[in-house]
Amino acid sequence: MTHPLDLKEFTLEELEQLMAAWGQPRYRARQVTKWLYKGVTDFQEMTDIARPFREELARQAQISHLQIVGLQQAADGVRKLLLALEDGHRIEAVLIPEGDHATLCLSSQVGCAQGCAFCLTAQRGFVRNLTAGEMVNQVLAARALLPAGLPLTNLVFMGMGEPLANFPGVARALKIITAPWGLNFSPRRLTVSTVGLSPLIPRLGHEVKFNLTISLNAPDDDLRSRLMPVNRRYPLAALLQACRDFPLPRHRRITFAYVLLKDVNDAPAQARQLARLLRGLRVKINLIPFNPHARLPFSPPPESRILEFQEILRQQNYAVFIRQSRGQEIAAACGHLVGEPGKAVISGQ
Ligand code: SF4
Repeated sequence: MTHPLDLKEFTLEELEQLMAAWGQPRYRARQVTKWLYKGVTDFQEMTDIARPFREELARQAQISHLQIVGLQQAADGVRKLLLALEDGHRIEAVLIPEGDHATLCLSSQVGCAQGCAFCLTAQRGFVRNLTAGEMVNQVLAARALLPAGLPLTNLVFMGMGEPLANFPGVARALKIITAPWGLNFSPRRLTVSTVGLSPLIPRLGHEVKFNLTISLNAPDDDLRSRLMPVNRRYPLAALLQACRDFPLPRHRRITFAYVLLKDVNDAPAQARQLARLLRGLRVKINLIPFNPHARLPFSPPPESRILEFQEILRQQNYAVFIRQSRGQEIAAACGHLVGEPGKAVISGQ
């Protein structure tokens, strides 16, 4: 774990309290956050703070950061970052350039306990939750890699781990990421993807604003429980009720991600079942042809089957898109993150 006084773990209010406890004026907290989220790594760079207090800060606290220990780039420009944590564990994040801006897919846990059958991260098992500072630091590390003029505007929590299983850490990270005194990201450009820890979905929505993606992958409980063990605890009825309870802003939709697995969940009847299941919800559906991997027992459907699945949903008036994973040759695609150099790394929902 990081140093007990990692200043990137603190909200502004908590930092103000800390400054007061150190006999400093409250505005000192804003001075500190300004430098922290500019990305400085040394208190001496905080030049508008008097030197004696900078030295005091250096004695009492630390500015955590993540070291990039591996960087792979795919032909399509996607870059996979292998990042070392202070305790020696490694995680991955994926930086995706998209025209005039970039998106970062970041991790919320080391490994994952959810055991989804189509995901390599599941095979690593669960190691530990990431701290809010470690999530914020993924953003700072990625931002520093981008050339001037290519802003990092979008964040998706779809890397290693199930974000809602790390509720306190993720809620805190989201607050820092969206705060004007923090990283100042628009909540409209922030997505949290979950396999469906149902009670926590509306709860997180009431604490912070973000776009919700549900990793669905099956139109019935039987199949979903086989693919995603979480469904035994929170079956589809509970998941859909949680989606109805989610404080969805007007004109926004919940995204349902559906990884298409050949001869498993790609039949026309399953598309019709999916259409019935989501009826009445404001949704968008992303179909993601499976990314094959030697250690996973699935393959993607042929294109004709994918298009047929999409067409059935379209005819039922759903907004439905086919999303090809990017960065496949460097194992940066959805479901392939494990956190080992040169091997398949991130996961994803
Ligand atoms: S898909 Fe997501 S929740 Fe499922 S095992 Fe992989 S990382 Fe965990």
